[in-house]
Amino acid sequence: MKTIIEPFRIKMVESIKMTTREQREKIIKEAGYNLFLIDAKDIIIDLLTDSGTSAMSDLQWAGIMQGDESYAGARSFHRFYDKVFQLTKFKHIIPTHQGRAAERILFEILANEGKFIPSNTHFDTTRANIEYNKGAAADLVIEEGKNPEAIHPFKGNIDLDKLENFINEKGVENIPICMLTITNNSGGGQPVSMENIRGTSEICKKYGIPFFLDACRFAENSYFIKMREPGYENKSCREIAREIFSYADGCTMSAKKDALVNIGGFLAMNDDDLALQARNVLIVTEGFPTYGGLAGRDLEAIAQGLDEILDEDYLHYRIRTVEYMGERLDKMGVPYLKPTGGHAIYLDAKAFAPHIPVEMFPGQAIAVELYRIGGIRSCEIGGIMFGKTDPETGQYLPPDLELVRLAFPRRVYTQSHFDYVLEVIEEVYQNRKNLPGYKFTYQAPLLRHFTAQFEIAL
Ligand SMILES: *Cc1c(COP(=O)(O)O)cnc(C)c1O
Repeated sequence: MKTIIEPFRIKMVESIKMTTREQREKIIKEAGYNLFLIDAKDIIIDLLTDSGTSAMSDLQWAGIMQGDESYAGARSFHRFYDKVFQLTKFKHIIPTHQGRAAERILFEILANEGKFIPSNTHFDTTRANIEYNKGAAADLVIEEGKNPEAIHPFKGNIDLDKLENFINEKGVENIPICMLTITNNSGGGQPVSMENIRGTSEICKKYGIPFFLDACRFAENSYFIKMREPGYENKSCREIAREIFSYADGCTMSAKKDALVNIGGFLAMNDDDLALQARNVLIVTEGFPTYGGLAGRDLEAIAQGLDEILDEDYLHYRIRTVEYMGERLDKMGVPYLKPTGGHAIYLDAKAFAPHIPVEMFPGQAIAVELYRIGGIRSCEIGGIMFGKTDPETGQYLPPDLELVRLAFPRRVYTQSHFDYVLEVIEEVYQNRKNLPGYKFTYQAPLLRHFTAQFEIAL
């Protein structure tokens, strides 16, 4: 088989500033060992997130020039609406400035004290928006989804028995909505099967609970269904995506992922009454319902991006890039979450650095070292992001997984960039026994990973 090449040519370039190890040692220390607090100019390969970091196409940039900036009823809104409607068939499509704005509006209406919102795994902003409104977020992913070594084609699936038990235990009246994150970002970018989406939809229908998708990576999820789920091998990813949306009553979407843009999102739904309430909140905090906090040009870029993302040559190259990284890591013996998911490699920090106890954040130790050695920015997805303290006992409650996510911006880096990343990981892995643990010197009450400060724990 021949190398699967990037299915695009480069028309514009952005230079990368090289730094030395001495410079990086100083930079990371000054940033309180928090990679979020390092300036982008001091990063060589930025794998912090795949969110809003895509390279836009010539046609998207052409759309930017055609943006209609009218306050109400702009042509660009209609182009955006038509594209999202063709794909999702949801009746109400409300643009928002990004995914969390859609979440905030939805949960301001639906999540309050005494309400429970189940999902496979809530993403961090989703969970934060539910908790901010005093609701309770529950993660009901299948057991395989919690085991980094377990091989399962759809590790992002929700446990349908657990979901039904959960509904009966908490009471239907206390569950205003059920979500599924596709692909399951916090669970390792793992896909959810069509069967599981359909099953979730059936349970929700049985109990009269609205079923919403967190659809950020719907195209990557569709590609996995095509590759892995019997009966879908001959369907196009577009047909698969349409079928996925057909089972849901609405969705939240960060266009910064699978719409290939740098900003934007939307909230969509069929329910008229909920849409009315959502638009009322939107007008107060985001903007008029035909722009929702975005410029007309942003809506054009989203409309075009939603077409390009379902190009199967693109999806093939995209998923193959992640798989290639996994194959090379296997050869080095580096532990990572298996099988590889859609948008990132997740190093398994507990297996990588078993000498660091979870309360000293092994994921953070690896992330800091990847920066020191190679100027690579990754993201800890473990105790710093999701760890909790028991309010009664004061005991630290670690999450199931301690991961370091290397997320791949779409259409940005080439194979040689990824080969360099592999070389750096190999060096860090060879010297893993010397990695120190970390402890907080500052933490905020919500989403603490963004602003936290650390020191080396001896
Ligand atoms: C990124 C993301 C969000 C939040 O979207 P933003 O555009 O960053 O606000 C929500 N859910 C998932 C699964 C995501 O990946």
